[in-house]
Amino acid sequence: MARVLKARYFPRCDILNAKIGNNPSYIWRSLVKPKDEIVDGFRWRVGDGESIKVWDDWWIPNTRKLLPVQQDNEIRDNLRVSSLIDRDNGWWDIPKLRALFFANDQTEIMKIPLRNPPTNDIVVWSEADNGIYSVKTAYRSLWQNEHPSVDEDNSESQRLKSYWRKIWRLPVQPKVKIFLWRISRDILPVGTNVESRIEEAPSDCPFCGLPETQLHCLRDCDWTRRLWQPCSDNGIFKQGEGFSGRDWFLNSFESHSNENLQRFCAILWFIWKERCNHMFNNKKLEAEEIIPKALDWLSDYLQAQGTVSANMNHPSNPQGWRPPPSGSFKMNSDAGVLRLNGIGLGCVLRDWNENFLGAVAGKESGTCRPVEAEARALVAGLREANRRGWSALIVESDCMKLIQMLDKGEEDRTELEIWCKEIRELASINEAFSGKKVEWAFVPRKSNAVAHCLAHLDGSWDQICIWTDSPPYSIRSLLEAEKAQFV
Ligand SMILES: [Zn+2]
Repeated sequence: MARVLKARYFPRCDILNAKIGNNPSYIWRSLVKPKDEIVDGFRWRVGDGESIKVWDDWWIPNTRKLLPVQQDNEIRDNLRVSSLIDRDNGWWDIPKLRALFFANDQTEIMKIPLRNPPTNDIVVWSEADNGIYSVKTAYRSLWQNEHPSVDEDNSESQRLKSYWRKIWRLPVQPKVKIFLWRISRDILPVGTNVESRIEEAPSDCPFCGLPETQLHCLRDCDWTRRLWQPCSDNGIFKQGEGFSGRDWFLNSFESHSNENLQRFCAILWFIWKERCNHMFNNKKLEAEEIIPKALDWLSDYLQAQGTVSANMNHPSNPQGWRPPPSGSFKMNSDAGVLRLNGIGLGCVLRDWNENFLGAVAGKESGTCRPVEAEARALVAGLREANRRGWSALIVESDCMKLIQMLDKGEEDRTELEIWCKEIRELASINEAFSGKKVEWAFVPRKSNAVAHCLAHLDGSWDQICIWTDSPPYSIRSLLEAEKAQFV
């Protein structure tokens, strides 16, 4: 049936570009209507780039912005993504990217993995994590488009339910949870909300005198804008017009990884605290002080709760890192969202005597799916292992999803599949010169502390850095502490 329709109505183009013809049959018309709505959910996964139009198709993942912005004014119709790929080295043609795109788009494009020899371009369903189209996910996205917020019983309440679960699981004080809950119900006692309940209450912002909505209070006041400035690349200021503070919060809530979410919520809480402090006690912190204070407060709190995840020493932790069996090597790998912007990658290799052999760390701006970042950390580590002939590897990651992908080879149409292919290929090269299989294992984060620390170094470099003789200073005490467990 699909083939018949294709032959008749869009013989020369793919379904994404099909339009209703002059004499459409009833069935095609009724198919096209929902198609127009769900087409937003499809994007391309770049293979050889021959099928993808640079300025017309959605092909840059990890962004809701469908198309790149054209940097020069010259019109380049019909430019295909294939012409951005350097055939000889099988990678992006960097000078061309520089000439055509703005920096943000360049960064995102260079994160798209390419295979050599190239694969075909394929269409990926962006509404499902694994990129595979299903009626269920399509229905959900259609439903959400048609019932943006009225549908309390279904998608919207489902959405809220998933926030509750996330909010209640956040390692923050109950009063902060209640504060977060209030934002998501749009009942935070900001000026405009108070005014609607209490007559003659002032609705002005205590900082600038404009009407104080949730969004104004938490993001748009001059004072809060200034304090968010260092995070502006993280999309803090996106989704501006027409959005309420609640929408902004809920959207941000969905897009942050857990760790980032803790920070985001801590900052919001501090903004609110300072706003009240200013209103009732007439005290005021400088905007620039808020983020550092909020992050210090968060790390103190986590430490007190014993849920510390970062580079704290656990010299006597019985479930910490374990050395590999004699004659083999262990590589720990991790990725993380950095303090203010970007993602970090880290890998560390040690032998069975707990000796340090090498570390790899890197930093990139922009965002990507956490599991993809984890896969890329592993690629960086394995490339280095192969270059230096480190073999008989046991590879540990604290990303369950990635290990499952590598173990079971679950179906996936997104870029993750390409990264996993790359990982398997690097592993098989490694196996070829050692004759020993590379093993994968999931470990809890506390057994992955050194890699975690490397992934969060947040140094000033923006390329992959490699240490082989001696470890970078920031992981030394942690390495010593883990070693001390076995002496
Ligand atoms: Zn204000």
